[in-house]
Amino acid sequence: MKADLRDFDAGEMNQAMEEMGEKPFRARQLYEWVHKKAVCRFEQMTNLSENLRERCEERFFLGGIEMIGKQVSAADGAVKYLFALYDRNVIESVRMQYKHGFSVCVSSQVGCRMGCGFCASAKEGLVRNLSAGEMLSQVYEIGAEGEHISHVVIMGMGEPLDNYDNVVKFIRLLSDEDGRNISGRNITLSTCGLPDEILRLSKEGLPVTLAVSLHAPDDEIRKQMMPVARRYSMEEVLKACDEYFRCTGRRVTFEYSMIDGVNDKKEHALLLAERLKGKNCHVNCIRLNGIGGAKNVGSSWVNIENFKKILEINRINVTIRRGIGSDIDAACGQLRKKYLNGEGKNQCRHFV
Ligand code: SAH
Repeated sequence: MKADLRDFDAGEMNQAMEEMGEKPFRARQLYEWVHKKAVCRFEQMTNLSENLRERCEERFFLGGIEMIGKQVSAADGAVKYLFALYDRNVIESVRMQYKHGFSVCVSSQVGCRMGCGFCASAKEGLVRNLSAGEMLSQVYEIGAEGEHISHVVIMGMGEPLDNYDNVVKFIRLLSDEDGRNISGRNITLSTCGLPDEILRLSKEGLPVTLAVSLHAPDDEIRKQMMPVARRYSMEEVLKACDEYFRCTGRRVTFEYSMIDGVNDKKEHALLLAERLKGKNCHVNCIRLNGIGGAKNVGSSWVNIENFKKILEINRINVTIRRGIGSDIDAACGQLRKKYLNGEGKNQCRHFV
């Protein structure tokens, strides 16, 4: 079985070159081709001898993810990509355009085992973790379309802190000056709120922005929405976030997906403001995207605006995330679902 070179950090490349009887500078050249220039074929590595390129080809491959579908939003230019992995699993990623540049939303797992009722990615449970190389490949392949990618959000399919080691390796490779050099400050990791892993992350020396899916002002409502809330109380999650801020100096974002009648009332806003009082944080209100099944309906924009006002009056920083790509299945996981239901399946060319 060949290995994905995009999954190799500098130390691993050194070791691989050493095992192949090559000098250390070859490893540095290889690293630059793989992580800085993100080439997808060995023949593009023009400063390596033909012989070395052939021997690399026998042992390794580059990326192993293939773009099999693409949908462009007419409303805001967001692009959703469908990628097939070497084992025929399928993931999706999104490219969004902001004032500050282009941002890529990366998936960290195939499926997810956190089971949030409103999220499409959780519906079939966890299939497998993505490797660091497979996460990088989403950024590299989307970058190869021509636009400069300045920001990355780990907010696609999966729970990143449930794939901790690979995600941290991915962030280190992505922010490496000798690679893509996307500063940790421009990387956001979104988690359903696993306190132990948040604490671990706070000690990694990575200045990434932490976004935590709070979605509720108290444990009772949170438990209705997110099974993970039965394992960890909001108190534990918020404590871990305080520690994250203390260690990294990065202001934590709390995501709040708003469901009509469930978590969007005045009393919920007041309670949330009370819980977050005095914290250096930021609340991001998101209107729930329906994922089929009528149980959960997104809040009205009026309710969302009122909710925001109450937080503001109570001096909590708050913004509303406008649905990006709303005309191209804004709800996470829907593009993949379409694919799995049969549309476009024959486009998939398997490889490796
Ligand atoms: N596992 C990570 C990433 C999930 S996706 C996490 O839980 O944070 C990123 C955000 O989108 C999360 O806040 C998630 O709760 C939210 N989300 C998922 N499905 C949604 C939907 N249908 N409508 C609105 N937000 C949704």
